[in-house]
Amino acid sequence: MKINSNFLNLHESYLFVKIEAMAAECQKNHPERRLIKLSIGDVTRPLAPTVVKAMKKAVEELASEETFHGYAPDKFCYGYDFLLEAIGRHYQKIFLSAGVKEQIETEEIFVSDGAKSDLGSLLDLFSKDNTVLLPDPVYPAYFDANVMDGRKIVFVSASEENGFLPLPSAKTQGELIYLCSPNNPTGAVYSREQLKTWVDFARARGAVILFDAAYEAFVKGEKPRSIFEIEGARECAIEICSFSKTAGFTGVRCGYTVVPKELRREGVSLNALFRRRQTTKFNGASYIAQRGAAAALSEQGARETALCRAYYENNAKIIMAGLKNLGFWFTGGENSPYIWGKCPKGFTSMSFFRCLLEEAGVITTPGCGFGQGGEGYFRLTSFAKTADTIEAVERLKALF
Ligand code: PLP
Repeated sequence: MKINSNFLNLHESYLFVKIEAMAAECQKNHPERRLIKLSIGDVTRPLAPTVVKAMKKAVEELASEETFHGYAPDKFCYGYDFLLEAIGRHYQKIFLSAGVKEQIETEEIFVSDGAKSDLGSLLDLFSKDNTVLLPDPVYPAYFDANVMDGRKIVFVSASEENGFLPLPSAKTQGELIYLCSPNNPTGAVYSREQLKTWVDFARARGAVILFDAAYEAFVKGEKPRSIFEIEGARECAIEICSFSKTAGFTGVRCGYTVVPKELRREGVSLNALFRRRQTTKFNGASYIAQRGAAAALSEQGARETALCRAYYENNAKIIMAGLKNLGFWFTGGENSPYIWGKCPKGFTSMSFFRCLLEEAGVITTPGCGFGQGGEGYFRLTSFAKTADTIEAVERLKALF
């Protein structure tokens, strides 16, 4: 028996696991110190009341013979009508406010247990001979999932010079292109024109864009929230979304992926392939989670989850004001829960991470963990409690 030896090419552990271990070690050495976590992108606000009510009702339904649900219907890959319709309406609102005449059909929506699962599952559709194009720095799961499959990976630099929003050039390679906007880790958001450049590039080359829109709800104003706002995207893009950060579902688990019907490669519909894949290797997100997700998209749910995001947006403002005050260069935080800062002179990402951990008791994420292009930077998240965010900023002020 042979193992998948590609796993041996992975880094020893997933970035966030490593950071947790270093923080735990620090806590062991300084048991008296209260560490504040501005590192992993996990939410801290409780679920919206409307979501809780819907999920409680769903549990009650499962408790009674008359209203019990087993496996979800496989017609739409285990997405319930009520959620698929709610997601369709959510897209209608996005397209309406963007002034775009588009529509996402029920058959194009695949309900999942979160974006990370689908970011991995989708790779089953693509030959291992394809070259993968990743921005650098990048959300590490894209890289690791492709290393596991043994695909060749090339990078396009996301830097201060291009506002952390790389665009394709004549030299750009890759058949499978990952874009994440609003971006994790940099918080950068593509404009409509910039996304159009990528869409035109992908169409001209027969490439496919995997567009990670996990943070779309944080976009305010003009910037696009969906790649399908861009003309031609239906022929070259798949969009991956999540209720994790939009509605605090990191523990509930629900997301969705849109694979347009027009998307074909080698004459084959990728929508049909993904349907085939999902019905074989996936059995749906729980009824309770799907009821909760639909409630999050209801009018009342949307109002409540917006309040919750406003809490994080306020935290981001506190962090940005603190960094500004200290004279740190930073970006992000405006349309994103992430703030991407530049380490002071003389520090590497890792030495600055250790300094903040050991001297201030603040856990951050070293930029180098997101790729070589992240060296010299650090990432802060606005997902902590406001009191902790304020204290973390105070600690940084005391340190510098
Ligand atoms: N995509 C990006 C860019 C993320 O930052 C995350 C989580 O932090 C995910 C996907 C995973 O989201 P989910 O909780 O839906 O699996």
